[in-house]
Amino acid sequence: MSDFKALAVPGVQKLKPYIPGKPISELERELGIDNIIKLASNENPLGPSPQGMAAIEKLLPELALYPDGNGFDLKKALAEKHGVGMEQITLGNGSNDVLVLLAEAFLSAAHNAIYSQYSFAVYPIAIQAIGATHKMIPALGWDSESPLGCDLDAMVAAIDEQTRLIFIANPNNPTGSFLSKQALYQFIRQVPEDVIVVLDEAYLEYSPEAERVDGSLWLKEFPNLVVTRTFSKAYGLAGLRVGYSLSHPDIANVLNRIRQPFNVNSLALKAAEAAINDNDFIRQSMAVNSHGLTLLTDCCDDLNLRYVPSKGNFLLIDFQQDAMPIYEHLLHNGIITRPVANYGLSDSLRITIGTEAQMQRLTKLLPAACR
Ligand SMILES: *Cc1c(COP(=O)(O)O)cnc(C)c1O
Repeated sequence: MSDFKALAVPGVQKLKPYIPGKPISELERELGIDNIIKLASNENPLGPSPQGMAAIEKLLPELALYPDGNGFDLKKALAEKHGVGMEQITLGNGSNDVLVLLAEAFLSAAHNAIYSQYSFAVYPIAIQAIGATHKMIPALGWDSESPLGCDLDAMVAAIDEQTRLIFIANPNNPTGSFLSKQALYQFIRQVPEDVIVVLDEAYLEYSPEAERVDGSLWLKEFPNLVVTRTFSKAYGLAGLRVGYSLSHPDIANVLNRIRQPFNVNSLALKAAEAAINDNDFIRQSMAVNSHGLTLLTDCCDDLNLRYVPSKGNFLLIDFQQDAMPIYEHLLHNGIITRPVANYGLSDSLRITIGTEAQMQRLTKLLPAACR
């Protein structure tokens, strides 16, 4: 038999596959327990947006038809929400899809893309799959203004003639670190016009409105800025796979050339269109999150555990010892969290914020778990 790995393109050979959070069904099979809670994938503990759900119930008889490949209705609703033109929007099968489209469209083996250490695992995968060079810039330290956050000065300094893309998540996953409006703005101003800055705002909805750093407001000023958003987190539609980018129309035009013709399915288009205006649900999700986050950080303070202050729906806790036994302890008690050793953070776990009841169950277990 052929060595198929050796036949794969060089970038793919070197890739480490993405490791998802453990599904509930898998833990049920392995341990034969029930009443499991998953705090591993930053999903919304309140479930999907009710308006999103209601919108797709009637759609099942239409599933023989292809979706609207241009996503007209959803784009129209998004254009209104963001005050941009429909031609500035690119829809994706999750925002992950858009991140990959950006890499495919703008990178080749001759190019490089920049991202920070401890930022979203999808960036190096998307970059390397193309055979492009991934330049990981060491993150800031625990005692910096933005613990484990992006070293923006070092990122600017790393830009060279071959750089085409810079990926930044704000707030960042898996750390929860965030950049201030001023810092981010000053950074983008220093990036040359022919380098595209991809600002991944998957967790934006969890910031209180007054504190939000909304990169979409800078699109007019910076044609080389791309902002990505998702329905997977606050809107609770992770299972449907729908996200999008906002950009200059010329960038959207490039992405549209390589996009699969029907990359977003009919149910996702319809649910997302309805969910956009489900403001009550977003408010409720934010409130549950901020309460749950406080319960968890209070517990960490009591236990003298350090964590990265988070503006997302998750918390990165540093146990300052191998986190795997803690992960296993929680697992055996029916709580799935997320190990982050693949990011080089083997002493930490990333824990998604759940409902009050879920956080209480977790915080009761934590003292024994980290002993
Ligand atoms: C969850 C997440 C996404 C969203 O992924 P989808 O493909 O839209 O589900 C994007 N970026 C970051 C940083 C994330 O954590």
